[in-house]
Amino acid sequence: MENSSSFVAFTGPHLRVLRLPALSDNYIYIIIRDDRAAVVDPAGSTMVEDLLKRYKLKLEYILCTHHHFDHTGGNMALKEVTGCEVLGPEDKRITGLDRAVREGDKIYFGTVAFDVLSVPGHTITHIVYYSADEGILFSGDCLFEAGCGRIFEGTPEQMWGSLCRLRSLPGGTKIFPGHEYTLENLEFAASLEPENRAVQVRLESVRKMRKKNIPTVPALISEERVSNPFFRADDPLLGKAIGMESNTEIEIFAAVRKMKDRY
Ligand code: ZN
Ligand code: FE
Repeated sequence: MENSSSFVAFTGPHLRVLRLPALSDNYIYIIIRDDRAAVVDPAGSTMVEDLLKRYKLKLEYILCTHHHFDHTGGNMALKEVTGCEVLGPEDKRITGLDRAVREGDKIYFGTVAFDVLSVPGHTITHIVYYSADEGILFSGDCLFEAGCGRIFEGTPEQMWGSLCRLRSLPGGTKIFPGHEYTLENLEFAASLEPENRAVQVRLESVRKMRKKNIPTVPALISEERVSNPFFRADDPLLGKAIGMESNTEIEIFAAVRKMKDRY
Protein backbone atom coordinates (compact mmCIF):
# COMPACT_ATOMS: atom_id res chain seq x y z
CA MET A 1 0.00 0.00 0.00
CA GLU A 2 3.09 2.26 -0.24
CA ASN A 3 1.70 4.48 -2.98
CA SER A 4 -1.83 4.78 -1.73
CA SER A 5 -1.23 7.49 0.86
CA SER A 6 -3.26 10.10 -1.01
CA PHE A 7 -6.29 7.81 -0.95
CA VAL A 8 -6.03 6.70 2.68
CA ALA A 9 -8.72 8.47 4.68
CA PHE A 10 -8.71 6.33 7.79
CA THR A 11 -6.56 3.78 9.55
CA GLY A 12 -8.28 2.04 12.44
CA PRO A 13 -7.46 -0.89 14.68
CA HIS A 14 -8.49 -3.43 12.03
CA LEU A 15 -9.57 -1.57 8.92
CA ARG A 16 -8.34 1.01 6.49
CA VAL A 17 -10.56 3.21 4.36
CA LEU A 18 -9.59 4.61 0.97
CA ARG A 19 -11.46 7.63 -0.35
CA LEU A 20 -11.86 7.98 -4.13
CA PRO A 21 -13.30 11.13 -5.67
CA ALA A 22 -15.76 10.28 -8.45
CA LEU A 23 -18.03 12.16 -10.88
CA SER A 24 -18.12 15.85 -9.92
CA ASP A 25 -18.35 15.61 -6.13
CA ASN A 26 -19.06 12.00 -5.12
CA TYR A 27 -16.87 9.85 -2.92
CA ILE A 28 -16.47 6.10 -3.27
CA TYR A 29 -14.98 4.35 -0.25
CA ILE A 30 -12.96 1.15 -0.20
CA ILE A 31 -12.83 -0.58 3.17
CA ILE A 32 -9.79 -2.83 3.49
CA ARG A 33 -8.92 -5.64 5.84
CA ASP A 34 -5.74 -7.52 4.95
CA ASP A 35 -6.21 -8.49 1.31
CA ARG A 36 -9.99 -8.18 1.30
CA ALA A 37 -12.12 -5.19 0.40
CA ALA A 38 -15.65 -3.84 0.47
CA VAL A 39 -16.75 -0.86 -1.60
CA VAL A 40 -19.33 1.66 -0.45
CA ASP A 41 -21.53 3.34 -3.09
CA PRO A 42 -19.48 2.87 -6.26
CA ALA A 43 -20.47 5.66 -8.62
CA GLY A 44 -18.37 3.92 -11.25
CA SER A 45 -16.11 0.90 -11.59
CA THR A 46 -12.92 1.82 -13.45
CA MET A 47 -11.11 3.56 -10.63
CA VAL A 48 -12.19 0.92 -8.13
CA GLU A 49 -10.98 -1.89 -10.40
CA ASP A 50 -7.63 -0.13 -10.84
CA LEU A 51 -7.10 0.17 -7.09
CA LEU A 52 -8.20 -3.40 -6.40
CA LYS A 53 -5.66 -4.59 -8.93
CA ARG A 54 -2.92 -2.28 -7.79
CA TYR A 55 -3.18 -3.39 -4.18
CA LYS A 56 -4.11 -7.01 -4.93
CA LEU A 57 -7.41 -6.84 -3.07
CA LYS A 58 -10.25 -9.30 -3.33
CA LEU A 59 -13.60 -7.49 -3.42
CA GLU A 60 -16.11 -9.24 -1.16
CA TYR A 61 -18.98 -6.78 -0.94
CA ILE A 62 -20.52 -3.71 -2.42
CA LEU A 63 -22.42 -1.84 0.31
CA CYS A 64 -25.18 0.39 -1.11
CA THR A 65 -26.80 3.14 0.93
CA HIS A 66 -29.55 3.99 -1.58
CA HIS A 67 -30.56 3.48 -5.18
CA HIS A 68 -29.45 6.73 -6.83
CA PHE A 69 -27.29 6.18 -9.89
CA ASP A 70 -24.39 8.25 -8.58
CA HIS A 71 -24.05 5.61 -5.82
CA THR A 72 -24.74 2.41 -7.78
CA GLY A 73 -23.40 3.09 -11.28
CA GLY A 74 -20.45 0.73 -10.76
CA ASN A 75 -22.39 -2.19 -9.26
CA MET A 76 -22.88 -4.35 -12.34
CA ALA A 77 -19.37 -3.96 -13.76
CA LEU A 78 -17.71 -4.63 -10.40
CA LYS A 79 -19.92 -7.64 -9.79
CA GLU A 80 -19.02 -9.05 -13.17
CA VAL A 81 -15.29 -8.53 -12.82
CA THR A 82 -14.90 -9.59 -9.17
CA GLY A 83 -17.87 -11.85 -8.36
CA CYS A 84 -18.58 -9.77 -5.26
CA GLU A 85 -21.94 -9.69 -3.48
CA VAL A 86 -24.09 -6.54 -3.65
CA LEU A 87 -25.71 -5.64 -0.32
CA GLY A 88 -28.23 -2.88 0.15
CA PRO A 89 -31.73 -2.01 1.28
CA GLU A 90 -34.73 -4.04 0.11
CA ASP A 91 -35.56 -1.94 -2.93
CA LYS A 92 -36.07 -3.01 -6.55
CA ARG A 93 -34.26 0.11 -7.66
CA ILE A 94 -30.86 -1.04 -6.28
CA THR A 95 -28.93 -2.17 -9.34
CA GLY A 96 -27.68 -5.74 -9.02
CA LEU A 97 -28.82 -6.28 -5.42
CA ASP A 98 -27.93 -9.80 -4.19
CA ARG A 99 -28.81 -9.59 -0.51
CA ALA A 100 -31.16 -7.15 1.19
CA VAL A 101 -30.07 -5.88 4.60
CA ARG A 102 -32.22 -3.98 7.07
CA GLU A 103 -32.30 -2.19 10.40
CA GLY A 104 -30.71 -4.34 13.08
CA ASP A 105 -28.65 -6.49 10.70
CA LYS A 106 -24.93 -6.85 11.25
CA ILE A 107 -22.50 -7.27 8.39
CA TYR A 108 -19.21 -8.87 9.32
CA PHE A 109 -16.05 -7.91 7.56
CA GLY A 110 -13.49 -10.23 9.09
CA THR A 111 -14.24 -9.82 12.80
CA VAL A 112 -15.38 -6.20 12.44
CA ALA A 113 -19.14 -5.66 12.58
CA PHE A 114 -21.11 -3.03 10.71
CA ASP A 115 -24.61 -2.22 11.93
CA VAL A 116 -27.27 -1.36 9.40
CA LEU A 117 -29.34 1.67 10.43
CA SER A 118 -32.48 2.67 8.58
CA VAL A 119 -32.49 6.43 7.88
CA PRO A 120 -35.44 7.34 5.63
CA GLY A 121 -35.74 10.84 4.23
CA HIS A 122 -33.48 11.33 1.19
CA THR A 123 -35.02 8.12 -0.13
CA ILE A 124 -37.53 5.99 1.71
CA THR A 125 -35.25 2.92 1.96
CA HIS A 126 -31.96 4.73 2.63
CA ILE A 127 -29.64 2.88 5.04
CA VAL A 128 -26.24 3.69 6.56
CA TYR A 129 -23.43 1.44 7.76
CA TYR A 130 -21.95 2.02 11.19
CA SER A 131 -19.07 0.23 12.89
CA ALA A 132 -18.88 0.89 16.63
CA ASP A 133 -15.67 -1.21 16.69
CA GLU A 134 -13.87 1.20 14.40
CA GLY A 135 -15.90 4.35 15.10
CA ILE A 136 -16.82 4.93 11.45
CA LEU A 137 -20.09 5.72 9.70
CA PHE A 138 -20.84 5.53 5.98
CA SER A 139 -23.68 8.01 5.77
CA GLY A 140 -24.53 8.09 2.05
CA ASP A 141 -26.78 11.02 1.19
CA CYS A 142 -28.45 11.16 4.62
CA LEU A 143 -25.80 13.08 6.55
CA PHE A 144 -23.20 15.29 4.86
CA GLU A 145 -20.53 17.28 6.62
CA ALA A 146 -22.36 20.37 7.87
CA GLY A 147 -25.47 19.39 5.93
CA CYS A 148 -27.95 16.70 5.00
CA GLY A 149 -29.44 15.22 1.84
CA ARG A 150 -32.43 16.65 0.06
CA ILE A 151 -35.74 15.13 1.07
CA PHE A 152 -36.77 13.41 -2.16
CA GLU A 153 -39.08 10.70 -0.86
CA GLY A 154 -39.56 11.00 2.90
CA THR A 155 -41.01 13.69 5.13
CA PRO A 156 -39.17 16.30 7.21
CA GLU A 157 -40.22 14.30 10.32
CA GLN A 158 -38.54 11.19 8.94
CA MET A 159 -35.36 13.01 7.94
CA TRP A 160 -35.13 14.77 11.31
CA GLY A 161 -35.66 11.44 13.10
CA SER A 162 -32.91 9.85 10.98
CA LEU A 163 -30.49 12.68 11.73
CA CYS A 164 -31.29 12.55 15.47
CA ARG A 165 -30.27 8.91 15.47
CA LEU A 166 -26.96 9.68 13.82
CA ARG A 167 -26.44 12.64 16.14
CA SER A 168 -26.63 10.28 19.11
CA LEU A 169 -23.71 8.15 17.92
CA PRO A 170 -20.47 8.66 19.89
CA GLY A 171 -18.91 12.09 19.26
CA GLY A 172 -15.66 10.55 18.04
CA THR A 173 -17.39 8.70 15.19
CA LYS A 174 -15.89 9.58 11.80
CA ILE A 175 -18.41 10.31 9.07
CA PHE A 176 -17.84 9.25 5.46
CA PRO A 177 -20.59 10.86 3.37
CA GLY A 178 -21.53 10.40 -0.29
CA HIS A 179 -20.48 13.86 -1.44
CA GLU A 180 -17.99 16.68 -0.90
CA TYR A 181 -20.50 19.44 -0.11
CA THR A 182 -18.87 20.81 3.05
CA LEU A 183 -17.94 24.29 1.84
CA GLU A 184 -21.33 25.18 0.38
CA ASN A 185 -23.05 23.67 3.42
CA LEU A 186 -21.01 25.85 5.78
CA GLU A 187 -21.61 28.95 3.67
CA PHE A 188 -25.32 28.25 4.01
CA ALA A 189 -24.96 27.63 7.78
CA ALA A 190 -23.10 30.93 8.15
CA SER A 191 -25.85 32.74 6.22
CA LEU A 192 -28.39 31.46 8.77
CA GLU A 193 -26.30 32.27 11.83
CA PRO A 194 -23.61 34.85 11.08
CA GLU A 195 -22.86 35.03 14.82
CA ASN A 196 -22.20 31.31 15.26
CA ARG A 197 -18.50 30.99 16.17
CA ALA A 198 -18.26 27.24 15.61
CA VAL A 199 -19.65 27.66 12.08
CA GLN A 200 -17.29 30.56 11.30
CA VAL A 201 -14.21 28.72 12.53
CA ARG A 202 -15.08 25.60 10.58
CA LEU A 203 -15.93 27.62 7.45
CA GLU A 204 -12.53 29.33 7.54
CA SER A 205 -10.67 26.05 7.88
CA VAL A 206 -12.73 24.33 5.17
CA ARG A 207 -12.18 27.27 2.81
CA LYS A 208 -8.44 26.84 3.16
CA MET A 209 -8.68 23.10 2.58
CA ARG A 210 -10.84 23.42 -0.53
CA LYS A 211 -8.53 26.08 -1.99
CA LYS A 212 -5.82 23.44 -1.96
CA ASN A 213 -8.29 20.81 -3.15
CA ILE A 214 -7.96 18.84 0.10
CA PRO A 215 -10.93 16.58 0.91
CA THR A 216 -12.84 17.68 4.03
CA VAL A 217 -14.05 14.18 4.88
CA PRO A 218 -14.16 12.48 7.29
CA ALA A 219 -15.42 14.82 10.02
CA LEU A 220 -16.62 13.90 13.50
CA ILE A 221 -20.13 13.61 14.91
CA SER A 222 -18.99 16.00 17.68
CA GLU A 223 -18.17 18.72 15.07
CA GLU A 224 -21.54 18.22 13.40
CA ARG A 225 -23.36 18.70 16.70
CA VAL A 226 -22.09 22.28 16.94
CA SER A 227 -21.89 23.39 13.31
CA ASN A 228 -24.41 21.40 11.26
CA PRO A 229 -27.72 23.32 11.27
CA PHE A 230 -29.58 20.10 10.40
CA PHE A 231 -28.41 18.60 13.71
CA ARG A 232 -29.61 21.69 15.57
CA ALA A 233 -33.31 22.18 14.76
CA ASP A 234 -33.96 21.82 18.50
CA ASP A 235 -31.30 24.38 19.47
CA PRO A 236 -33.06 27.59 20.59
CA LEU A 237 -30.16 29.64 19.20
CA LEU A 238 -30.89 28.43 15.67
CA GLY A 239 -34.64 28.95 16.09
CA LYS A 240 -33.98 32.49 17.26
CA ALA A 241 -31.53 33.23 14.44
CA ILE A 242 -34.17 32.45 11.81
CA GLY A 243 -37.04 34.08 13.71
CA MET A 244 -38.81 30.81 14.56
CA GLU A 245 -38.29 30.65 18.30
CA SER A 246 -41.89 29.66 18.98
CA ASN A 247 -42.03 26.90 16.34
CA THR A 248 -41.53 23.16 16.84
CA GLU A 249 -38.23 21.49 15.98
CA ILE A 250 -39.83 19.74 13.01
CA GLU A 251 -41.16 23.03 11.66
CA ILE A 252 -37.71 24.55 12.10
CA PHE A 253 -36.04 21.56 10.46
CA ALA A 254 -38.46 21.67 7.51
CA ALA A 255 -37.96 25.42 7.10
CA VAL A 256 -34.16 25.16 7.16
CA ARG A 257 -34.24 22.30 4.64
CA LYS A 258 -36.45 24.42 2.34
CA MET A 259 -34.12 27.40 2.66
CA LYS A 260 -31.18 25.17 1.73
CA ASP A 261 -33.04 23.83 -1.33
CA ARG A 262 -33.35 27.42 -2.55
CA TYR A 263 -29.91 28.60 -1.44
ZN1 ZN B 1 -28.73 10.34 -3.51
FE1 FE C 1 -25.76 11.26 -4.21
